[in-house]
This record gives sequence, C-alpha cells and structure tokens, in this order.
Amino acid sequence: MNFLRNFMMGRRGTDELNLALVVGAIILSLLSTVVAWFASNAALTIVYIVLQFLGMLLLGISLVRMFSRNIPARERENAAFRRVRVRVCAPFRRAARNFRDRKTFVYIRCPDCRAELRLPKGKGSIIATCPKCRREIKTRT
Ligand SMILES: [Zn+2]
Repeated sequence: MNFLRNFMMGRRGTDELNLALVVGAIILSLLSTVVAWFASNAALTIVYIVLQFLGMLLLGISLVRMFSRNIPARERENAAFRRVRVRVCAPFRRAARNFRDRKTFVYIRCPDCRAELRLPKGKGSIIATCPKCRREIKTRT
C-alpha cells in the first residue's frame, strides 16, 4: 500500500469525468458484445471493432487523466464536464420536479424576463407578480 501511496503522490486520482469515461467505456463494451452476437457480415464486424476501440480509448483517456501530474489542467477538464452535465441534466430535473409537484403547483415562465414562477394549483384565475421584473401575469391555475 505504501508503494501505491507514493506512486499516487502529486497525481490527480479519479474524479467525476473519469467515472463518466469508465461508464462510457463499459457501455461501449457491452454494445460491442451485443453487436458481436449478430456480426455475420463485414459491416457489423467493423462496427464491433470500432465500438471496442472507442471503449478502449475512453478507458485509456481515463487512466491518463488519473495518473496525470498536471492537476490544474485535469481540474479544468472536470469543471467543463460538470458544466455540460448540469446543462444537459437540467430539463430532466425540471420535468421530474414538475411531475412530483403536479398536484400542488403550476410552473409558468414570465413572458418578459423568462423567470420561472411557481404558483399554487387550483386557485382559479389569479394575477401573479413576477419577482424579478414585477410584471403582472394573468393566469389560471
Ligand atoms: Zn419577469
């Protein structure tokens, strides 16, 4: 264990992006296995090889990042990945929240500033005031 501790000294170790790379490599590997079941012609064999190669590539990138001594660069990559992940996941999180709150709240957007308003459901016709730009919005909930 001492050898490993000394070896990892000053190296980046693993992070969120590395985990995503490993998960991506596993998915590509499983996909290539499924393709291999049906690989009866040259085209599918090429697809199999490409999927295997991409999986190995992701795994290789993940290992290089893990043992890298250029920690600031790896942190920048991880931060960029997290920004993209948050942006990609936002619509799904919003949809899950809307579904969870569907019986108690209605979510609308302000037509002026695009701010999101959460209004109580089942109050009939109401006038809501946007907390950001103070515009009054007539709506039914
Ligand atoms: Zn507004």
